[in-house]
Amino acid sequence: MNRPFKLECGHTAEFDVNPLKGDMVWCYTCDDYHTVLYGVDEWSFQCIDCKYSRKVGVAPVTASTKANAHAITKHHRVKVYHENKLQFIAGGSKDQLAMF
Ligand SMILES: [Zn+2]
Ligand SMILES: [Zn+2]
Repeated sequence: MNRPFKLECGHTAEFDVNPLKGDMVWCYTCDDYHTVLYGVDEWSFQCIDCKYSRKVGVAPVTASTKANAHAITKHHRVKVYHENKLQFIAGGSKDQLAMF
């Protein structure tokens, strides 16, 4: 599974093989080599009550909005993950929106 990585030049890029932090990689935007600063964080979610699950990219707002929308319209509980770590469960408690 590819995901975007942030480079020291400020660009992000995806690679066939995921680099490690500090690796020198080719930036196609700069047309030059740059160091990988860190992997861009990725959010995803998975519904407890049905098969709905998705990767939602790097924006936490998108993750929480989509998870909450599903939780509210379907009355389901949706587990929201950041870098494969559970962050909160939309629809699972009254303070589900307190994260953001
Ligand atoms: Zn660059
Ligand atoms: Zn569901």
